[in-house]
Amino acid sequence: MPFSDFHGNTEIVYRIREMLGRDRFPHSVILAGPRGSGKYTLATMVARAMNCLERPTSDGLPDFCGKCSNCVRIGQSEDLGARLAEAVEARDALKESDKKETRLFIQTHPDVLVIPPDPPQMMIKVDQVRHVIDTIYFRPSEARERVFIFSDSAFMKEAANSLLKVLEEPPQFATLFLLARNPGELLPTIRSRSMTLPLGCLSSSEIDAYLARQRPEWSAQQRTLVARLSEGAVGRARSFNLAEYARGRANALTLLSTALSSGDHSELFKMTESYRPGAEGREKMDLLVRCLYSLLEDLLFLESGAQDLVRNTDILPELRRLAPMASFEWLVEATEGLGQVERGMRRNLLRSLSLDSFEAGLETRRK
Ligand SMILES: [Zn+2]
Repeated sequence: MPFSDFHGNTEIVYRIREMLGRDRFPHSVILAGPRGSGKYTLATMVARAMNCLERPTSDGLPDFCGKCSNCVRIGQSEDLGARLAEAVEARDALKESDKKETRLFIQTHPDVLVIPPDPPQMMIKVDQVRHVIDTIYFRPSEARERVFIFSDSAFMKEAANSLLKVLEEPPQFATLFLLARNPGELLPTIRSRSMTLPLGCLSSSEIDAYLARQRPEWSAQQRTLVARLSEGAVGRARSFNLAEYARGRANALTLLSTALSSGDHSELFKMTESYRPGAEGREKMDLLVRCLYSLLEDLLFLESGAQDLVRNTDILPELRRLAPMASFEWLVEATEGLGQVERGMRRNLLRSLSLDSFEAGLETRRK
């Protein structure tokens, strides 16, 4: 898994490797960029390049082998979702009294520590930063560089202040990565002690070309769809679950099409009833809401004559059928109504009922 496996942002990757080659890598780096732009992947790649036992080069710049014991162990952190689920599960299995004391970390190599936001608040907490402070001044045991990766920039206030203390006097052999969708969330004093490297989005055609290599089983039409829906984020495109999206979108279409054109509610009620209470229905509901937003936006594009911006290109005929029935005002009200559905979900309103009343509200505003 050398640097050539990283897609896009070639200038930033070049700059990083150049700094590594000159032994001028800063102690604290903010990798800034949208979800799926590769911030975490890149941070774990740099951690491997810093500590690879083979120390290979490519194009005259430092790289990593991906096979030595340091590369392999650090690489095990790469699937952040899976490692995080394991850590949460391990903590849930603890006694109630120990649970409160235990903070989440991901550590697949003794010298590389990943600090994720701690659920349920999904913030980085002061105890997590304290653990970093307690360990950062020990020399690396099996690596050359101790690496700390904060996978999110949502710090509790006290945690951010503690982090600042580390940044004031970091040890020679330690590197901190702060991954941020919005670096403005970080304290200005943290930003001024770090180097910010921005990762940009990729164009739809770059993502399309990437998918042609990675997902050869997808048709050209499916690739275009995923490229448009992932909004320039390689990570999101790679892990896109097309079948699941198609199911969520079919339900979203049923709802909008009933609201715009049909008096028959049997299909609608059958669909909304499948959105059950409880945790297992949450992802399904989130997906439905995302699909509804995406379809409403596409209808708005059609309404305003901007057909080339439509993302759900594979169902264009269906969207074209609905568009003349959906006025601009109706679309705006639908988007607002969807916001209310989302707020209702946070207050634990019944999903099926919220969807039914959302649809009924839209029907009364039909042209
Ligand atoms: Zn290696």
